[in-house]
Amino acid sequence: MGTTINQVLGPQKSASTQVQTTVYSWNGKKYPLRIDHSVAKLCTTIKKMQEGEKPRAQYISVLLCGQSGSGKSTLAQTMIHHISCKNKEPYVIKWFSGKDLHELDNIIDKLEKGLSYIMVFDDVSFIMDFLPSKRKKELAEKLTRIRHDVSGKVITFMNIHYQKALMPMMRDANFRILTSMSDQDSQNWKNTIGWKHRWAIDNFQKQYAYQMAHGSFFINNAGLDGKSYHYTTDKPFRVALCSEISGLHPLVFPATTCAKCSPTKSGYKNMKLTGEQFFKKATKGYKTSARTALRYWYYSTYGDGSVLPKNGRLAYKKIESLAKEYVFDKDELKNLLVDTLSKKSLSTNDTED
Ligand SMILES: [Zn+2]
Repeated sequence: MGTTINQVLGPQKSASTQVQTTVYSWNGKKYPLRIDHSVAKLCTTIKKMQEGEKPRAQYISVLLCGQSGSGKSTLAQTMIHHISCKNKEPYVIKWFSGKDLHELDNIIDKLEKGLSYIMVFDDVSFIMDFLPSKRKKELAEKLTRIRHDVSGKVITFMNIHYQKALMPMMRDANFRILTSMSDQDSQNWKNTIGWKHRWAIDNFQKQYAYQMAHGSFFINNAGLDGKSYHYTTDKPFRVALCSEISGLHPLVFPATTCAKCSPTKSGYKNMKLTGEQFFKKATKGYKTSARTALRYWYYSTYGDGSVLPKNGRLAYKKIESLAKEYVFDKDELKNLLVDTLSKKSLSTNDTED
């Protein structure tokens, strides 16, 4: 981050008819990559969908899904730069985060009409879960009407860290880009994108693990004559998996910052903490309750059940499968839970246990 990067040079025809490669200049060196793995190509596709008097897609949605620190915000930023700053008609760029999503209708209603917007909703995992179902539906529907309300072109980015962390209507996107892949994610995405893509998904899981654990990753059969490319993590690329209409493909992306389109540091940017610092902050004042909450939060966010006690994990899995099997009155269940909660809190003081 922090470096303005010279952009992709012109395409070079490859010897094979299939693969076209290009190079990316960074810190005085040139890094080869396949054109169809580049952010430039992806963003050209997006721009073309919105070009002209009658664009094919007035509204385009991008879902970025991956663990904290896997590069969602970075990739959003890099894409925005390609889409907006390298465009004759730049977009108005708006960054939101977390609970701002609860105000989606107000936010949309306040936008000046007739302009083109890129709206980023960063870190919105499970944000919708706290809302009553009626309100959820209202907001999801507002999103489907956004192009009419704004009467201009709109691109939205939704950044979440786990596939199930956003209601289906909101995570249904034209472009789905995964910046990390756990075992749980792998199952979920195979179900969503299709088992015929299992090889690509498994392959990305390996690339991601390698990128994080060994500080480098390979893109196989990427270069001319089926060569592999070997990249050092963050110098300048990371790897993601992109699902778009034309199929599933790796995306190698650098971090691009730009005075024109980068968000100001205040407001949304995450402060870095160690795991232990986060644990202390998260459990301060509530001790046992917060520790339990943290375990379930971790499980529902990252899909890793090893953080739960055995019975808790079994109970959670049972609830998950029951919820898939049966249709039930959510509000009645809620009332029951709330009721038993107030009875419990009469007998035990839960805040400093
Ligand atoms: Zn820019």
